[in-house]
Amino acid sequence: MNHDVSTADRIRIVLVGTQHPGNIGSAARAIKTMGLDRLVLVAPQRYPHNEADMMAAGADDVLASAVCVDTLAEAVADCRLVLGCTARSRRVQLEELSPRVAAARACDMALAGGEVAVVFGRERTGLENEELQLCHAAVHIPANPDYSSLNLAAAVQVLSYELRMVLLAAGTAQAADGPAHEGGHPSDRPASHAQMEGLFAQLAQTLDDIDFHKGRAPASAMRKLRRLFLRSELGEREVRLLRGILADAQRMARLAAERQ
Ligand code: SAH
Repeated sequence: MNHDVSTADRIRIVLVGTQHPGNIGSAARAIKTMGLDRLVLVAPQRYPHNEADMMAAGADDVLASAVCVDTLAEAVADCRLVLGCTARSRRVQLEELSPRVAAARACDMALAGGEVAVVFGRERTGLENEELQLCHAAVHIPANPDYSSLNLAAAVQVLSYELRMVLLAAGTAQAADGPAHEGGHPSDRPASHAQMEGLFAQLAQTLDDIDFHKGRAPASAMRKLRRLFLRSELGEREVRLLRGILADAQRMARLAAERQ
């Protein structure tokens, strides 16, 4: 089952701004029971803390190796798939996946060699819209619509369980089929988060250069374009091709401006 273990190693659970240290311990326990062990803490409010140690029970090794960083962007910089778990639908129009479909996508990406992050928000306020913007898709556990917010560690448990189910199945099914990165050329590695952000920055600049917005606020168009490109799961070569096109458009815009 080596294959299985290395696939699980490419999946990290990210907790953003956790308020109660006990939840960090419970989350560590939840992921360890499901065969995962990579925990990343983004600016936890109180950590390290004895309540975290207490709730982790036998999962203190997961806590001990947890990585602390300041921002979500840092936590996912090398990730090729970032999934943000939300208790309710937001204004940020991201594709919304069920835990099962999300787990299948995460497993596909990990099998293809890409790093994956599954991100959870603060107990009181969840993930901020800016944080969700960094995600390729949102994951919603279809809970009671009148009472849909699970305890943080309980939500981590649900997602970790779904990941385990897919990883167990992949131990047999995927080994024969090989990596499952769809779309693009098979040798085109999925673009990283940082590469996608580079594309978006150049796209935003190009839209300015060609006066696409004509006085309208750029944010709405960029949101839609981000959604479009993130959904497409672009490969590195595809990103290079698009950036080449943008560079040419920028050059033409400069030439046109010089002629005026
Ligand atoms: N009041 C907050 C709830 C936060 S619960 C809000 O409305 O967003 C803490 C975290 O647990 C959430 O940020 C989310 O990552 C996860 N979570 C809780 N319930 C969930 C659900 N039904 N589906 C997906 N994630 C959930």
